[in-house]
Amino acid sequence: MAHINDHYLKLKAGYLFPEIARRVREFSTANPAAKIIRLGIGDVTRPLPAACITAGKAAFDELGEGKSFRGYGPEQGYDFLREAIAEHDFKSRGVAIDASEIVVSDGSKCDTGNIQEIFGADCLIAVPDPVYPVYVDTNVMAGRTGQADVSGRYAGLVYLNSTAESGFLPAFPKRRVDLVYLCFPNNPTGCVASRAVLTSWVEWATRNGAIILFDAAYEAFISDPTIPHSIFEIPGARECAIEFRSYSKTAGFTGTRCAYTVVPKTLRGFDAVGSPVDILPLWLRRQTTKFNGVSYPIQRAAEACYSEAGKTQIKDLVQYYMGNAKIIRDGLAKMGIEIHGGVNAPYIWLKTPGNLSSWEFFDHLLTKANVVGTPGAGFGACGEGYFRLSAFGETDQVREAVERISKLGL
Ligand code: PLP
Repeated sequence: MAHINDHYLKLKAGYLFPEIARRVREFSTANPAAKIIRLGIGDVTRPLPAACITAGKAAFDELGEGKSFRGYGPEQGYDFLREAIAEHDFKSRGVAIDASEIVVSDGSKCDTGNIQEIFGADCLIAVPDPVYPVYVDTNVMAGRTGQADVSGRYAGLVYLNSTAESGFLPAFPKRRVDLVYLCFPNNPTGCVASRAVLTSWVEWATRNGAIILFDAAYEAFISDPTIPHSIFEIPGARECAIEFRSYSKTAGFTGTRCAYTVVPKTLRGFDAVGSPVDILPLWLRRQTTKFNGVSYPIQRAAEACYSEAGKTQIKDLVQYYMGNAKIIRDGLAKMGIEIHGGVNAPYIWLKTPGNLSSWEFFDHLLTKANVVGTPGAGFGACGEGYFRLSAFGETDQVREAVERISKLGL
């Protein structure tokens, strides 16, 4: 008999998006004429930048010739991409990250999910609430938690409340923890962390010997020049942080898949007898054992993000989505709805009007305006009473959605 990993049985069934899909399906079946606008799931809708397509196609052509064919690539990622990343994402911002500290992957979902494997089963984990669910579920799978309570919180995890009172910044842990996941710009709240806030986190981690797992998947959407794009802009972060970056939202790679993780050579954990251990070799060991690299054409396509044409096209993409965010923000503000985010991030986090619960508001929008968003409660207990709208739609659809919502008289 094959005994399964019992920890998987603690997982709350992938509740949020399947439940949204179920409710939308039910409504559509009963109302086939309804033209539903989806501002729920955080997938992009615009085509890939032309520079990426050209580079990817040329790379495929190389693979079709005997003299330029390549098989398995380096598991860490090709030098050309890692060097472009070090130069354009870090050095250009005055941040010293070496290409050898960059590990290319097929997504930040995998990286933020897999990173916990290289840490001890006894590590205490802190996550923000509301939270990108991958941070939580992968620790549940690894056996670092007990069961979930009625609010969905797992025993053994430390939840850092992010509420309106704190500007949706997660509270500092009140007890010792070993690893903290942070995500800025934030999914789902769309809020960002100032230099001062990030500095406090780095100081806290340094003081407490903790490691920050910093998810910067939405970094490209930062428009405020005072907001750091990388935690490594903060002195001391090289000794206490790992950063995750993705081309998914930046350049429309959600289907194409390319991302990277930065593990500074100066970051250390501790073994069972308290001796320091470098983290980078452990992550490389994990990746080289379980991952065979991102395909050559996709890494060439990612490299093209840093060409002059690529940079312009990405800027246009980001502006397109942020134009949508402004339409949503302006429209909701005119209706007197309390809104957060949507300025340096593609998500708008709104307080549900009339004290409706997140799911009551979801049903109201779906049935009365035929607009689909994401109930905040699906991201954690602190998300109750909030709702996420995504700016990753087509502008005419976004306009129409806002117009329909405005007619509800909320
Ligand atoms: N991190 C956050 C906060 C996200 O919202 C997402 C995707 O929605 C990811 C990571 C996953 O990114 P990727 O497509 O690179 O796996």
